[in-house]
Amino acid sequence: MRLWHELLGTEQVGSYIGGEVVPGSGDPVELIDPTTEETYASFGDGGEGAVSAATQAAHDAGEVWRALTASERGRALWAVGQGVRAQVDELALLEARSVGKPLRDARAETTKVAEMFEYYAGWADKQHGEVIPVPTSHLTYTLREPYGVVAQMTPWNAPIFTAGWQLAPALAAGNAVVLKPSELTPLTSALLVRIAERAGLPTGLVNVVAGLGPSSGQALVADPRVAKVVFVGSPATGRRIAAAAGERLTPCVLELGGKSANIVFGDADLDRAVGGAAAAIFSGAGQSCVAGSRLLVQASAYDEVVGRLAELAGRLRQGVPTDEDTQVGPVQNARQLTQISTMVDTAVSAGARAAAGGSRADQDGYFYRPTVLDGVDNSDQIAQEEVFGPVVVAIPFEDEQDAVRIANDTDFGLAGAVWTGSVDLAHRVARQVRAGTVWVNSYKTINVMAPFGGFGASGHGRSSGHDGLLEYSQPKAVWVETDAEAPLAFGY
Ligand code: NAD
Repeated sequence: MRLWHELLGTEQVGSYIGGEVVPGSGDPVELIDPTTEETYASFGDGGEGAVSAATQAAHDAGEVWRALTASERGRALWAVGQGVRAQVDELALLEARSVGKPLRDARAETTKVAEMFEYYAGWADKQHGEVIPVPTSHLTYTLREPYGVVAQMTPWNAPIFTAGWQLAPALAAGNAVVLKPSELTPLTSALLVRIAERAGLPTGLVNVVAGLGPSSGQALVADPRVAKVVFVGSPATGRRIAAAAGERLTPCVLELGGKSANIVFGDADLDRAVGGAAAAIFSGAGQSCVAGSRLLVQASAYDEVVGRLAELAGRLRQGVPTDEDTQVGPVQNARQLTQISTMVDTAVSAGARAAAGGSRADQDGYFYRPTVLDGVDNSDQIAQEEVFGPVVVAIPFEDEQDAVRIANDTDFGLAGAVWTGSVDLAHRVARQVRAGTVWVNSYKTINVMAPFGGFGASGHGRSSGHDGLLEYSQPKAVWVETDAEAPLAFGY
């Protein structure tokens, strides 16, 4: 809270609109520290009032933003990146406390936010159209135009990362934004915007609504001034958002959940594969959309890989997120902890065996022990639905065809990995896995330069890279007749 107080000049928590903290008057929301289970702040739901003020502020500031040259916008975004770099430690500390994320992970993610602004700063003056060689006497060219006001909704597992991830390309393309972070973790998003304004972004270009999904989130999607919706969150909410956006014919990007297959062949470097499998599921206490939550292991190496992973899971240092040695923190909230416990208990009752973990940790806070489940069929609920916790199911496979069949036997398609010593096998499997990202002999490396997004129930549209930038503008074709005698078009 100290940084919040220092930067925003108030202890009061609320929405951040037009450069000011605006208290909400709706239902009270408590912010609970997942490590201590104590309430550390509370605020009133922003609701329709905050959404309306935020959207208007964004609309007005958007005009100021678009009046700048593209190079000026690029320089402003670069300055935001520098502003974030200068305050990585403070932002990361607040993120670690509110999410329960180990400090070193929070620091790495906050540094990535700086990289995102720097990367998209470079794109600001490189978005141009093309001249189309049409078969008539026209000069036909395209322009890329921003949407105007974009609504962004983000989840609680990586609030500052997802905020930067979507804000930087939206602004680089010339839009203004109303951001609604999760009601469980709104603080670092507002601080990020404050830092961005101090670095030179027009006041009100980005506004943060602190509020609940069914009230503030719904109101934002329904606001007629919102021209594009970008949603990062669960598939269930994604369906609601897409339906509401569809009512208004507002285009949307959906970045949803996953049930990613991490495929280990018998010829892989098993030391690296086991370490990679642990990082894939236990970092962020498994609260990652790309978590490697299904570990598929070739039968010949199955017992060894599962045994070593279980042993490693038991050795991970679980503890207070702000302790530099902590590898796994608590999960973020009580409801998530209950969901994890219920799903694991149900799987174990149905015949799964906990090779590691399988229960809450014996300490205060929302800690769940890193868990490896064996004896699971890919059709079981625990293998088909997102747990969003430190729980991996291990499933054996026979050969390449079997591995690909199991990997693709899911509604999701966000990510996946293949571990093997064979170059041709690696490329063949990477091609066959239906997912937006596939790693080879690696897991979870993500960079703003590469596109990211889902197939199937993991969503549609892309974030990051040039593809992510293109989501934030639309092409316009301009036809200029160059021959005054040309026949006038009739029909098409
Ligand atoms: P969630 O769907 O519950 O909430 C996400 C956001 O939507 C929050 O801001 C929430 O307040 C808002 N919201 C909730 N109900 C709403 C409604 N009816 N109308 C409008 N807004 C509403 O998700 P969560 O539990 O916060 O996050 C976990 C999920 O996010 C997981 O499924 C995870 O896989 C996914 N996720 C996906 C990505 C990705 O890039 N694909 C990244 C991170 C997390």
